[in-house]
Amino acid sequence: MHLFCHDHPETLALETEVVDVRPGKVALAQSPFYPGGGGQLGDRGVLRWNGGEAAISGFEVTGGTVWHLLDRQDELSGTVEAAVDPAFRRTMRQLHTGSHVLNAFVFQSFDGALVTGVQMAADGTARMDFDIPGADNDRLRALEGPINDAIRQNIPVNFVYVGMSEAQAERGLIRSRSVAPPPTPDGKVRIVEIVGLDRQACGGTHLAATGDSPPLRLLKIDNKGRHNRRVRFGLAESS
Ligand SMILES: [Zn+2]
Repeated sequence: MHLFCHDHPETLALETEVVDVRPGKVALAQSPFYPGGGGQLGDRGVLRWNGGEAAISGFEVTGGTVWHLLDRQDELSGTVEAAVDPAFRRTMRQLHTGSHVLNAFVFQSFDGALVTGVQMAADGTARMDFDIPGADNDRLRALEGPINDAIRQNIPVNFVYVGMSEAQAERGLIRSRSVAPPPTPDGKVRIVEIVGLDRQACGGTHLAATGDSPPLRLLKIDNKGRHNRRVRFGLAESS
């Protein structure tokens, strides 16, 4: 599914029209919100209209429609302003980009190890699960230095759309065992590239360059069965 925020991650507020209404939820002609998915939490934010405001309490995606769940039951129609919570989006973009950087080094260092799960949290931490049979956890911990070197180098992050068969043919482009982003209506897959470091299919929101993130700390590494390693990481509080 193609979202406005994929192409315009910096546009956090816009004026738009209510195109459909159900009790407690609305669909918009254009929405700046990320509705969640692929381990990234849905945006927080508000809708404002002449004389009122409602907080977005969640999203439902059905049949290509993004429903914005509201914390009040007003009968909305006409023009509204939709505004994303900028601090929350920024945290998600930092965690999401950090997850790709971590993933890049795990993929390179552990012979193409795949991701089996990822979940970001509102407190600026995240966990990623990797399928790495017999991994030495000290080798995983040692990736913190290279990860932060890559962040400091302020590497540009780009995206392109490629055909599904091309995506499936390139080793490592579909990185996750569990979550593959759904293709766009014309059968394309969105590829997020940290230039020279990593290319993978992803439908989340990312930074424009790695240096927009504070350093990452690898907080904890747990063994989840013989194959899986769960890496918890967080955004360092400085900067
Ligand atoms: Zn991503």
